[in-house]
Amino acid sequence: MTPRHRFLAVLTLPILSVAVVVSLAFGSTRTEPGTVAAVVDETSEPETVAGPRVVPLQGPWVVAIQPGHWRIGELPDEHARRRANVGASHGGVREVDINVAVTEALVPLLENEGWDIQMIPATVPPGLRADALLSIHADWGADPNRNGWKLAAPWRPSPAASSLAQALRESFGAEPGLREDRNGITVGMRGYFGFASHRFHYASSPYTPAVLVELGFLTNDVERARMVEDPDFYAAVIHRGLVSYFAGRDRLETASLIPRIFEIKTVGHEGAAVRRSTTPDSGVIRHLEAGEIVRPVDEVGGWYEVRIRTPALTGWVRAADLVPFATGTAGDPAPGETGRMPGGGTEPAGGDSS
Ligand SMILES: [Zn+2]
Repeated sequence: MTPRHRFLAVLTLPILSVAVVVSLAFGSTRTEPGTVAAVVDETSEPETVAGPRVVPLQGPWVVAIQPGHWRIGELPDEHARRRANVGASHGGVREVDINVAVTEALVPLLENEGWDIQMIPATVPPGLRADALLSIHADWGADPNRNGWKLAAPWRPSPAASSLAQALRESFGAEPGLREDRNGITVGMRGYFGFASHRFHYASSPYTPAVLVELGFLTNDVERARMVEDPDFYAAVIHRGLVSYFAGRDRLETASLIPRIFEIKTVGHEGAAVRRSTTPDSGVIRHLEAGEIVRPVDEVGGWYEVRIRTPALTGWVRAADLVPFATGTAGDPAPGETGRMPGGGTEPAGGDSS
């Protein structure tokens, strides 16, 4: 996953025999025999004062699966520096081959559900709309004992993206032979460029619930063997998670597709602890001083998730420890440090190397 283990090899993958043709034009959905068409974003109407109106997709559930790093050399110029991010490798095994094998095992399971399945390369069709988009990866760690799966929705996820992540989390969590790599989610996962429509043209629609999945560690002998020998196992876990997600999903309920917006906050006069999780006694990553500015990227049950820059990770702060941001009292947000995204949220910059 990390650029540390780049090695440039020609991608000779069996899946290359399957032509994948995507329509890059806005406003069109094109399906040709033997090809996979991308649904592009013709579905958001002009924003009103009440916010964007998202038109629901039609037909069977549309699921886009991206084997991470697949055909990454074809990335367009805006992602030129990412073309070398060919994925992790260890013990003679390449991450991209695992990602493709699990995707190839997963696609027929999803097609058997009657859903509309698209397999997409590293170059995400601009504005890709789907009912669910998964980018599948395997991780690399310096410690061979490190193991476990993890998955992440983007920064400021829509409620639907959070639900999708939760359904998958429950499915992975139900496997007794697997463990979660708790606290292992990186800013690179959250800021994954393929989902970052507020930064890039070649990224999915902000209204596509998206989750980046790390199956396990290539650098762990047990997990590497399982990923290589049994991609069907991982496909089944993901399949089950998607079934669960769609069982609870009403497609006409489009408000939940809109990424959440969080107001800038200021740390209250008592200061605030940034914790690893929303458990009150979880480890403290950092103490914030009174008056420090906080830009939440998610919110769950009275806790705000905030991004820490050094070290680059995220943690959770009790909402009760924060007060509304007041212009001029504690300094305005640094110009240029954050961008604007559709709907007026702020963008945590950088961190997209998954
Ligand atoms: Zn990866």
